[in-house]
Amino acid sequence: MSAREQLLLPSRGERDEVAAPASAVVAGGGLAGVAAAVALAERGVSVVLAEREPFLGGRAGAWTDRLASGEPFEMERGFHAFFRQYYNLQALLRRVDPELSFLAPLEDYPILGPGGQVESFSGLPRTPPWNVVALTRRTPTLGLRDLMGVNGPAALAMLRYERGWTYDRYDDQTAGEYLDSLRFPPDARRMLFDVFAHSFFNPEGAMSAGELLMMFHFYFSGNPEGLIFDVSRQPFSKSIWGPLGDYLAGRGVDVRTGCSVSSLARGREKRWSVVLDGQATEADLVVLALTVPGLQEVVAESPALDDPDFRRSVEGLALTHPFAVWRLWLDRPPRPDRGPFVGTTGVGSLDNISLYHLFEDESRSWVERHGGSVVELHAYAVDPAMSEPAVREDLLHALHAFYPELEGARVIEERFLLRRDCPAFAPGSYADRPGVPTPHEGIALAGDFVRLPIPSALMERAVASGFLAANHLLAPQGVRPEPIWSVPRRGLFGRRPVETAASRMR
Ligand SMILES: Cc1cc2nc3c(=O)[nH]c(=O)nc-3n(C[C@H](O)[C@H](O)[C@H](O)COP(=O)(O)OP(=O)(O)OC[C@H]3O[C@@H](n4cnc5c(N)ncnc54)[C@H](O)[C@@H]3O)c2cc1C
Repeated sequence: MSAREQLLLPSRGERDEVAAPASAVVAGGGLAGVAAAVALAERGVSVVLAEREPFLGGRAGAWTDRLASGEPFEMERGFHAFFRQYYNLQALLRRVDPELSFLAPLEDYPILGPGGQVESFSGLPRTPPWNVVALTRRTPTLGLRDLMGVNGPAALAMLRYERGWTYDRYDDQTAGEYLDSLRFPPDARRMLFDVFAHSFFNPEGAMSAGELLMMFHFYFSGNPEGLIFDVSRQPFSKSIWGPLGDYLAGRGVDVRTGCSVSSLARGREKRWSVVLDGQATEADLVVLALTVPGLQEVVAESPALDDPDFRRSVEGLALTHPFAVWRLWLDRPPRPDRGPFVGTTGVGSLDNISLYHLFEDESRSWVERHGGSVVELHAYAVDPAMSEPAVREDLLHALHAFYPELEGARVIEERFLLRRDCPAFAPGSYADRPGVPTPHEGIALAGDFVRLPIPSALMERAVASGFLAANHLLAPQGVRPEPIWSVPRRGLFGRRPVETAASRMR
């Protein structure tokens, strides 16, 4: 079986800590910023971590809220799946939970379609191409005759991932065009690919096919761990952010929540001067681990970041469509055979349904006290023209279509988030996408939109980029880098990439 790989890093320093005192500002307290802060602080750098929101975690963050009954609870930005090939995320989380005991495995990850269609991903072989073969053979919406009509060379691209080749060939195409070109029957296309493509928050018609193929390799065809994930037994504030906040404090990191970074300039005593809540703080090293608009605002306000290509690549970034997260406390449970999580497709904009009381302790305890259920609905890549009431109506209609037993259930409490802060991966955006290193000495970027030398996505991409940012900034000091792990970097039929130490970082 293909195994995970360790990325060979240009810096192979042996020193545990920086030789001379060094300071850093990490801007942004999501997974990317926290990973960078952890790696820097562990190597003796004195770190200020500035996060605009009053809590850590960004898009995976959580905060305390109160139900009308007065009961406190932890609200999150939404359900998150922790895939088994998220090696760098696991390495970060093992700092506070060495056994990753806060995670519970989910047996299956079924997809429900209209008219009772079901696709299951459980029990598939893990080795390519047998995982792909087994899935195609057992997919009920895909017969032998359909398979004969599939566009073989296009389908082979899913097993042929290799960074240079895949992006050169497919980045200018949309994911929708690529999926159409496969000539799968419409039902099979919907059940096998539409949910997957949507999971990255980008609509198929405006997402790069190269990016989709990279994600297909990362999650399925090149993933030695299989398409399996775990979920957090506790709200993220308890399982992740409280412990990581304590860990950072224990390493001397000055964690400032509710603190905005507005600009950078050349420093007097140290290399950079960063404006935090209106006050200049000098630092040798800076990691910008912000949202796309946050980064664009900081760069726009910082004339010292004067490299025209860098400015252009940051300006060229964009946000994708909004997404909706709707947590519902209902007076009625769904049918007992319903699983904790299902992906859904083909009915309105609903993308998945999670039953929180089946896996998360706080929701389970609410149901033990009151009966009923705690249900969360997600819709990704929501049509920006849809109003909030229209999104709600659409999601409720889809919930009832999939789980008719919940029709007429009374909503005891609800929280509805309609946000737009996930990055776009537009066709043709790869070549100009900024990477972790910048042309400005002492400054690195991190975040789930940054171009990486390894196949990676979402939370894992955020953490890998944060670790890479710390490695990049500390490389001149000969400090031992944080190991970076990856699924195999090329697919079964991918050509061996010819890479130099420098190209490995881009
Ligand atoms: C509903 C939903 C479901 C998801 N499900 C999954 C999933 O199942 N699996 C998965 O892997 N991923 C999932 N994701 C994606 C995952 O949450 C993100 O990929 C990851 O959290 C991104 O981390 P980040 O650090 O790159 O960015 P962010 O979390 O966005 O962090 C950037 C931080 O910068 C801060 N900031 C911005 N501007 C400033 C400023 N000027 N000064 C200071 N701070 C600033 C922001 O407040 C934010 O905290 C999901 C996301 C959402 C929204």
